[in-house]
Amino acid sequence: MDIISFLPLISAIFVFLIGIAILLANYRSSINLTFFLFSLAVFLWFLGTFFLFQNCGDKAAAIFWDKFIYFGVIFIPATLFHFSVIFTKNHKQKYVILNYLISFIFLGFLFTPYFVNDLFIYEYGCHTVANFGHNLFLIYFGIVLLMSHLSIYKSYKKSKDLNLKKEARLIFVAFLALTIGSLAFLPAYKITIFPSPYLAGIISVIVLAYGIGKYQLFNVKVIATELLIFIIWLASLVKILLAKNSTERIFEGSLFIFVIIFGILIIRSVLNEVKRKEEMEKLSRKLAAANARLKELDKLKSDFVSIASHQLRSPLTVIKGYGSMILEGSFGEISKDVKNAVDKIYQSSERLISFVNDLLDASRIERGKMEYNFEKADIFEIVSSVVEEFQLAAKKKGLILELEKEIIQIPPLKLDANKIRQIILNFIDNAIKYTPRGNINVNVLKIGERVEIKVKDTGLGIDKKDQEKIFDQFMRINGKDTAGSIGAGLGLYVARQIARAHGGEVFVESEGQGRGSTFILKLPIENKK
Ligand code: ADP
Repeated sequence: MDIISFLPLISAIFVFLIGIAILLANYRSSINLTFFLFSLAVFLWFLGTFFLFQNCGDKAAAIFWDKFIYFGVIFIPATLFHFSVIFTKNHKQKYVILNYLISFIFLGFLFTPYFVNDLFIYEYGCHTVANFGHNLFLIYFGIVLLMSHLSIYKSYKKSKDLNLKKEARLIFVAFLALTIGSLAFLPAYKITIFPSPYLAGIISVIVLAYGIGKYQLFNVKVIATELLIFIIWLASLVKILLAKNSTERIFEGSLFIFVIIFGILIIRSVLNEVKRKEEMEKLSRKLAAANARLKELDKLKSDFVSIASHQLRSPLTVIKGYGSMILEGSFGEISKDVKNAVDKIYQSSERLISFVNDLLDASRIERGKMEYNFEKADIFEIVSSVVEEFQLAAKKKGLILELEKEIIQIPPLKLDANKIRQIILNFIDNAIKYTPRGNINVNVLKIGERVEIKVKDTGLGIDKKDQEKIFDQFMRINGKDTAGSIGAGLGLYVARQIARAHGGEVFVESEGQGRGSTFILKLPIENKK
């Protein structure tokens, strides 16, 4: 036997193994099932050809094997069409069924002499001679092949998914190779041809196998495992057949059973692993979608906060302005009671304005829209002006607010004075808010290449576990002790972001609840920004 007669056999085994492997990889998937049917048809074609070429000398046997070939070939158009319909997600179910029906009609023909009869023997082998039924089938085959190619090509053109495009291209190439393979018809019309079409069979299988590996047309890991195990099964089966005596046969037989069980277990475990991986992938896709949605919602929230705060600020400023004018007597004398009431309105509107400003700052930071205006400024001057501003409030609460200064001169720093002021303001405001009695000491120190501003109070203190949390948005921990104080828990969050934008940092030191706290702002002397 020479290589030419073996080519169809090798093609047949290849196609069959791939078909079975793909079916087992996921027998519930319709694309796998259809591919299996398609490969089965091609398998019959190749296998029959092998036997046909062995029997060219025996006319009856040769005709039998050629009809065996057509038993498969007749179903190639229908399965090919089915495969392309599923791949392109085209809902042409009616046509799929119609094609299978037509295949059965041709199958009926095959059992009559009107499909093929007689035998044509040529240089490389033999073939039955085409009859009326065969001519019809050839026309039908051509039309379906063209339609399947067209629909795969169309889906390739239309698809925006790059991977799907590459898959479509590979399937297209594999189909094309099979089309060339169909030139094996020619001897039916007494045209001699070197049996190269069988090469096309192998090519199409290799292309598909490559596609499987590269783009996971079907699951490659499962298929590779299955192929390997099939080969082991086949080898151990051959060993049984080749056994010289019954002892050897029993030994090889038990080994075969062991190999079968072991193989099934391996395939199952790989299938399970793949299933789990697919579930994980599905989950991660869902998570990614949820994450995108959350980001969208977060942006909506920031936009909403920004718009709402802007809208709130103007009427609040009007309330504060008129309050201040009434208190200053711009609208004439007012009684003490009215003055008290208006003062409360004024104070509340002031707190609300600072709250709204914090909201606006936080939303600006989140949207990356916080703008900084860096200029050289004297940090000590900024701190002392804020301390001055709060003296009255501290005195009202019976607290001593003091500013200490290191003797060493601090050089002007490059910073956004208003923003840094805002941090100090927040530190001292908090110190007053959260200190029932005692003192508040403010320090401006130069330590190496940085400046540290410390605000130390003898107030409520902060537990170690809360010391990082208070720098998060909307984080308030001394809620019950601060009844009456308006605050959203945004001040320290904004302070930290501003400090970081200056290449600095804010943090807190406290021995715990009831033991006071020290808030520290560190700023580099050389600000690179
Ligand atoms: P707010 O003061 O508006 O609540 P902040 O972000 O300024 O928001 O502060 C967050 C939380 O940190 C406060 O609610 C409070 O629990 C705690 N905190 C801040 N400063 C002090 C301080 N000096 N002493 C004790 N707790 C403080």
